[in-house]
Amino acid sequence: MSNDNGNPVARGVPGAHGEGSEPGAKPNRSHVRGSGDFVFDMRSLGKHPGEFRDERRTARAPDGLGSGLVLVPAGADVALDLRFEAVSEGVLVTGSAVAPLSGECARCLDPLTTETEVSFQELYRYLPDPGEDEADGEEHFLDGDLLDLEPAFRDAVVLALPLSPLCSEDCPGLCVDCGAKLADAGPAHGHGDKVDPRWGPLAQLDINDRVED
Ligand SMILES: [Zn+2]
Ligand SMILES: [Zn+2]
Repeated sequence: MSNDNGNPVARGVPGAHGEGSEPGAKPNRSHVRGSGDFVFDMRSLGKHPGEFRDERRTARAPDGLGSGLVLVPAGADVALDLRFEAVSEGVLVTGSAVAPLSGECARCLDPLTTETEVSFQELYRYLPDPGEDEADGEEHFLDGDLLDLEPAFRDAVVLALPLSPLCSEDCPGLCVDCGAKLADAGPAHGHGDKVDPRWGPLAQLDINDRVED
């Protein structure tokens, strides 16, 4: 079903996939969930409110992002354009992501590929005090110096996924009688005067002047 790929988007954005590129300065990596591609190191940002850092990165899409009809292919390139800003409670992330989508047309079931662009703004707080309940679900927290953008990215994409993706706005869909794809079958496609049995009683009425022509 997936007929995209083969797109020559450049990989290897500095810092996107690399591990251990700073010999001797290996950070104390605590537990980080999700794809490392969405994890950002905040050490260079500092903690003075108002400081900010812009970063662009190409990340590989995580698994399982999509609905029945359309999804972001796992491993596909996601273009992130982000600003990290230090605020008193943590780090405010503002940015956008462009991700490819593949799926099938809700009307004619043809495979389709498109893309979605989402923008988001999320506050990542410093870890809560030990006594504080962190299981809020809505809140995002920094993990030491690391910020895992994946949950915020997922939330934004899921909200942006089209409920009824279409191969084209005026896709005529399938023939309800035979399932033929109407875009291929042409406007003359039909099944004579075969009448749906549910409309049988109406066929007895004198509406010939409307059916013909
Ligand atoms: Zn279609
Ligand atoms: Zn038909």
